[in-house]
Amino acid sequence: MRSVVAIGLLSFLIAVWAQTGNGRAEQALAEAELNERGKFSNPIGDLDKGGLDVRVPFMLRRLGTYFRSSEGAPERVPNDGSLLRANATDTTPTITWVGHSTFVVQIGGVTFLTDPIWSNTPSPVPAFGPRRFVPPGIAIEDLPTIDFVTISHNHYDHLDLPTLRTLAARDPSTVFFVPEGNARLLRSAGISNVTELNWGQRVEQGAVTVHCLPTQHWSKRSLTDTNASLWASWAVIGADHRFYHAGDTGYFPGFKAIGKRLGPFDLAAIPIGAYRPRAMMKSSHVNPEEAVAAALDLRAEAAVAMHFGTFDLSDEALNEPPKRFLQAAKDQGLGEENAWVLKIGETRQF
Ligand code: ZN
Ligand code: ZN
Repeated sequence: MRSVVAIGLLSFLIAVWAQTGNGRAEQALAEAELNERGKFSNPIGDLDKGGLDVRVPFMLRRLGTYFRSSEGAPERVPNDGSLLRANATDTTPTITWVGHSTFVVQIGGVTFLTDPIWSNTPSPVPAFGPRRFVPPGIAIEDLPTIDFVTISHNHYDHLDLPTLRTLAARDPSTVFFVPEGNARLLRSAGISNVTELNWGQRVEQGAVTVHCLPTQHWSKRSLTDTNASLWASWAVIGADHRFYHAGDTGYFPGFKAIGKRLGPFDLAAIPIGAYRPRAMMKSSHVNPEEAVAAALDLRAEAAVAMHFGTFDLSDEALNEPPKRFLQAAKDQGLGEENAWVLKIGETRQF
């Protein structure tokens, strides 16, 4: 009798514990809301972007951007797109690094692009913008038919209107998925096939489901629009394969919640660069060690590195992020073979 009571009590406690866990995960994936000032925010509130003592010297160093050597930038293997075009209706999943956070991904006969940028300078004033060290790995005209595009947020290195206009003109049926508050910008640029989603929302798109998910980041495109539009990560889930793209993000509890609800992922694209100076970047950009921790939280079998070596955005040496990423994968148990550092233009199956 006593053991029956004990088992009953134990199952009750386990049920309560599981409920609390699920509740926490649901909370972490809840929709983001505009506050009374018309701004979105992160669950932890305003991000710490460092004091003026860190930011002013950083901005001054950025002015010297044209004199920085491209030594240590990623290798590039030109890709003529023929393999990707041949694979467009096949079910073999592939990923191709175009540079920065831009990938061509193929899952279940669907081809999509992440944060596509083909421009040389991600900036409202190109003459003063950060330089591109390595040209894109594949030309836009060599791409297979693009079913859809995911955009993580409106920073110029992720939302590149000239590229988006070219893609929309190339194929009007390409769908552009953006986080809430970004559709207006695309429509004002003449791009009409836009679907706006909030965190936790999803859409069936051909053979895959596209999930809009949180990140810990922010948005800004002009002097007055800080956080007026939302930022996001995306999961694309097919019948046999699951892919995740983290956009830009600091390390946050959302990774565990996403891994719990939608993992395990076959492949997760995680940013590993733009982390120095740390006092300014930590809340909104993971470093390579945090990138590996995020991949483990997401229950990703493999993590592919992005957001490094392409544009001159921050203080770390160009070849530091991939070195630290591989070392961290070894140290934290992801395994070096599961930490992918692609060449720009390289295609890999997953
Ligand atoms: Zn950003
Ligand atoms: Zn970025």
